[in-house]
Amino acid sequence: MTYDVIRQSALEVGMDDVGVVPAQRWDSDAVFMDEWVAQGLHGNMSYFERNQAKRYDIRELVPDAKTVIVTLLTYSHSGHDYHRTLKSKLYELKQTLAEQCDCGQELFSSDHQHIFCDSAPVLERRMAVAAGLGFIGKNHQLIHPQLGSRVHIGELVLQVEVENTKPALSFGTGCEGCSRCIEACPGQALGRAEWDARRCVAYVTHKCEICQQVCPYNEKLK
Ligand code: SF4
Ligand code: SF4
Repeated sequence: MTYDVIRQSALEVGMDDVGVVPAQRWDSDAVFMDEWVAQGLHGNMSYFERNQAKRYDIRELVPDAKTVIVTLLTYSHSGHDYHRTLKSKLYELKQTLAEQCDCGQELFSSDHQHIFCDSAPVLERRMAVAAGLGFIGKNHQLIHPQLGSRVHIGELVLQVEVENTKPALSFGTGCEGCSRCIEACPGQALGRAEWDARRCVAYVTHKCEICQQVCPYNEKLK
């Protein structure tokens, strides 16, 4: 299985972009998130206090995992019920890849869940960045250089190794000279290394996405 086959198949089923990353433990993220939780910056999202082992290493969920395929689907292509749409496209992608595989190996675990979209403790944005799908902006969102930040992330876990050919971009790579999200945030939740959930209006009311609205990467898509 190659990245080119995966990319072609993902685009055919209607994904907007795709990358691959080796299944591994994200040690530096584990340190960072443990510290974030210890400082109480996660507010009352108590689920961040549980399932750490699974969150930091997907092999705790899928023991035979070798590669994670990370897919992006823009809000505009996912419709009202994004969860259902994304999941159905991940199943289509799984089917397509299984049909194309001629290496004789089982691509997917038959004993464990291998499709994830917002449904399990998985470091989705970390894996999307490592798969070369964008960078984390100062608004702490995943920003794809062409698709912006209004994207849903889904994962399909493979039992075979696939080489990742796309480089990862570091935090704030595409933010040079810009601080629009920091200045516009009504709760002053941005502007430091950690996102402070307690200050975020969206976290409290689910009615704010100013830091995405003002971002030039989203504006140019309007
Ligand atoms: S969603 Fe609103 S309150 Fe939360 S970080 Fe973004 S701009 Fe600030
Ligand atoms: S608004 Fe500017 S600083 Fe904030 S994430 Fe977008 S590009 Fe980066």
